[in-house]
Amino acid sequence: MQQVETLILGAGPTGLGAAWRLNELGNTDWVLLESAATPGGMASSEKDPAGFIWDLGGHVIHSHFPYFDAVLNTVREWQHPRRSGWIWLGGTFVPTPIQRHLGALPDERGSAVVAELAALSNQPANNLYDYFVATFGPTLTNVFFSPFNDKMWAHSAKLIDHAWTSLRSGSGAANIPAPAPTLISENRPDDTSQFPYPRFGTGAMWAEIAARIPAERQRYRTTVAHVDLERRVAHTTSGEEFAFDQCISSIPLRRLLDSMVDDSHLQARAGDLLHSSVHAVGFGYEGKIPPQLVGVSWIYSPEPGTPFYRSTVLSNYSPAIAGPGRWSILHEVGTSAHHPVDTTTVVTRCREAMKDWAVAGAPVSVWHRYLPFGYPVPFLRRDELLHPILCRLEAHGVRSRGRFGGWRYESCNQDHAFMQGVEAVDANMTGSPERTFWAERPQPLASAASV
Ligand SMILES: Cc1cc2nc3c(=O)[nH]c(=O)nc-3n(C[C@H](O)[C@H](O)[C@H](O)COP(=O)(O)OP(=O)(O)OC[C@H]3O[C@@H](n4cnc5c(N)ncnc54)[C@H](O)[C@@H]3O)c2cc1C
Repeated sequence: MQQVETLILGAGPTGLGAAWRLNELGNTDWVLLESAATPGGMASSEKDPAGFIWDLGGHVIHSHFPYFDAVLNTVREWQHPRRSGWIWLGGTFVPTPIQRHLGALPDERGSAVVAELAALSNQPANNLYDYFVATFGPTLTNVFFSPFNDKMWAHSAKLIDHAWTSLRSGSGAANIPAPAPTLISENRPDDTSQFPYPRFGTGAMWAEIAARIPAERQRYRTTVAHVDLERRVAHTTSGEEFAFDQCISSIPLRRLLDSMVDDSHLQARAGDLLHSSVHAVGFGYEGKIPPQLVGVSWIYSPEPGTPFYRSTVLSNYSPAIAGPGRWSILHEVGTSAHHPVDTTTVVTRCREAMKDWAVAGAPVSVWHRYLPFGYPVPFLRRDELLHPILCRLEAHGVRSRGRFGGWRYESCNQDHAFMQGVEAVDANMTGSPERTFWAERPQPLASAASV
């Protein structure tokens, strides 16, 4: 059995953040175990046989942290595309955010929305759907916010909390900006600022970051099958054992609880953690990009007849992703038990839907990946369930962090995940608070250590 001070599970942004920090501190008493052959986790990229590079869903880096900025500065090759976000609605492209372009709404619905906005009475909202109605009125809720959110989360907005909506998005604006109650609409999105994108895809950036951390302590193709919480030992599928003082895990919490720990209290709670899964479907083409898609970053599609909720024109982020004379587009289709999707037809349905955008002709590449864990849903009363679970794990030396390790949508992008890994190390070493994960921790650890 190998004994380490810190065992890191997963080489996605969270695990790499932890490894980066330990290495920076000069600590050599750690090992990272990762089931995949390469680093990056959900933020990795794949090259298909035709040479197109695909991220696992559209990824934009929003750094909120000087520490993470300094890490990004070590990455060599960047593109700086401009944001250009649109909504496909009623057969037309509406600029984002929709609530500030009411004049562009089809069927003169903008007038109805303006009248409703003037009559809003700021009702308190109990869930995301009620929040939309209270903030934007019923017409805009039913035309865009409710159907789009139902598709993206693959759960009803009535099951979801709305506290995250007031937080800041990566562009520095609020996640959901306030409406502009006029019928004016410029025919361009409000935010056209530039954003950094790694020249060869998101995964290339994480590969470069991983390469700056000692390779001998990163173990790939090594899958953890069981974690003995009492003895603080992780067992791999190949029969290796790693004893740890502290473990930083980014394995999806539901999977960890379901099948990897012997704790009936924890297992009983795992099924209540809601999440969506995602089909990522990419098409690569030879020749010129259709005029409607020139310069476009992403398109949101709220209507139920369109299979995807979001499409990213990936080659507009970096031409090197597709190669000379080619272009590519990547769709995301959300799914869950509440929102089933027929896996056998999803690719064909995505391709059919693109005819509305005058994307004709046969793609030279079709790429499809099913991501069992897509979005951790910020469901109602989530923290009441989550916090005691995480505290119980911490009492056994395991900090479960990151997108699905921590299950908190509001802090689960790449920058948050990386910083959660960094701050978990600092918390283990010095007891410092993990501000990225819990801006305000719900209650003291000691009082919630048993579920
Ligand atoms: C559709 C989609 C769109 C996204 N868009 C954005 C975006 O625009 N901007 C942004 O910043 N972020 C985005 N993200 C989020 C980004 O991918 C995550 O923040 C990030 O990957 C989370 O990192 P993590 O390390 O917490 O988890 P992961 O990346 O999931 O890493 C966990 C790692 O653990 C490994 N693992 C799991 N089980 C085991 C086991 N039993 N043994 C060993 N290893 C195991 C996995 O293989 C994986 O590598 C998006 C994600 C998705 C799915």
